[in-house]
Amino acid sequence: MKITFFGAAGEVTGSAYLVQTEKSRLLIDFGMFQGESETAGKNCVPAGLDPTTIDAVVITHGHLDHTGRLPLLTKAGYRGPIHATSATIDMSGLILRDSAKVQAQDIERTNRKRLRAGKDLQEPLYNFDDVERTMQQFKAQPYREPVPIAPDVSVRFVEAGHMLGSASLQLTITESGRAKTVVFSGDLGPADLPVLRDAECLNHADLVIMESTYGDRDHRSLTDTLNEARDIIKEAVKLNGKILVPAFAVGRTQQIIYHVLAMFRNHEVPPFPIYIDSPMAIEATRIYEKHPELYDEEARRLADAGLLNLDLHGVKTCQTADESKALNDLSGTLMIIAGAGMCNAGRILHHLRNHLWKENTTVIIVGYQAEGSLGRLLVEGRPEVRIFGEEIAVKATIHSLGGFSAHAGQSDLMKWFNCLAHAKPQVVLTHGEAKGREPLAQLIKERHGLTARLPMFGETIEL
Ligand SMILES: [Zn+2]
Repeated sequence: MKITFFGAAGEVTGSAYLVQTEKSRLLIDFGMFQGESETAGKNCVPAGLDPTTIDAVVITHGHLDHTGRLPLLTKAGYRGPIHATSATIDMSGLILRDSAKVQAQDIERTNRKRLRAGKDLQEPLYNFDDVERTMQQFKAQPYREPVPIAPDVSVRFVEAGHMLGSASLQLTITESGRAKTVVFSGDLGPADLPVLRDAECLNHADLVIMESTYGDRDHRSLTDTLNEARDIIKEAVKLNGKILVPAFAVGRTQQIIYHVLAMFRNHEVPPFPIYIDSPMAIEATRIYEKHPELYDEEARRLADAGLLNLDLHGVKTCQTADESKALNDLSGTLMIIAGAGMCNAGRILHHLRNHLWKENTTVIIVGYQAEGSLGRLLVEGRPEVRIFGEEIAVKATIHSLGGFSAHAGQSDLMKWFNCLAHAKPQVVLTHGEAKGREPLAQLIKERHGLTARLPMFGETIEL
């Protein structure tokens, strides 16, 4: 058996692993490269991967960096099944359609300029029709039950606790009458992420391919983060102004709503209206509501008692731009959650322009802010920022909350690996930059005497 790494090898995006056995060829994830790798032309079907020879594709979870190249596979002639959990199919649909939309908008802008410069026009990687054809190929699979996906391979989806529908994969591969177990961690969530179940321990593997995004460190604890969030919100309520939360639509938005509703329920802060100002976040929240079978015990108890019903708690939604604009005229304390998470685009920009200059505005930054993004400038405490070409004074209070990651920190990664370590598996670390995966490899060496491999793009390893 051989595995070739066509992404997320020494970096955190573009997950794609080709598994070749005696009888079959499987692709695990086929994600988009983001950031610098995106611009390096890596978002393609790589040489050495002939889509028409693949027997099955298996997807660990819906994030774009794990699903974003799937339509390219369909375009290049792949007609076989794409196996995933039911919630992952819903999330993939949402995320791939949004990707097609963003590409269409970007290409329109680019082509307007190219036209004026007398250059050839460009095409997006894929469009809506390509995405719809890809969605037809998905096949929903249950958690925990082994599913045959090729003559010599079965797969078991196991909770990974990272986003709704996320899974680790346990592949059983039978070659020359001998069965071998290969485990792909997928992206692993931290323990105690709200709503979601924790990542499940697996107890056997001959080979483990494991993510290492935060292999070098632990996050701030959720308890500390929530205590800080509560204090910030109490102060914001006293100011009687708007609370702006730039947030990614999937995952982060739902977590924040969950925590704020808990504060209302426990009478820690007086209730105020919450607006989800993002059609994509509204749709993602509906997908969460559609899958109560995936909730952890606490969320299920709340759901059974009707306490997770968003309508009951004054959570309101803005589908259209006009509804979004109407928020300007509202007074008093209210929370607006809008994209984009790094304030580099989206409806949050309008809210920031309209309210940053007011002293009673509170901005709560909850995610990673890349160098140069507006979010980063706010976190750095700039007295003035430019939005839509206009100088805006920053009089609002800006807070940055670091503990809401959907990725396991070092301790949780090691806890997950410890369950498998007794079988002395071969270990491969992926989905991490050098600063994440090298310290994790070191720790695995010290604690278990196992030498992890750290493959780069295009490398093949044999079991
Ligand atoms: Zn992910």
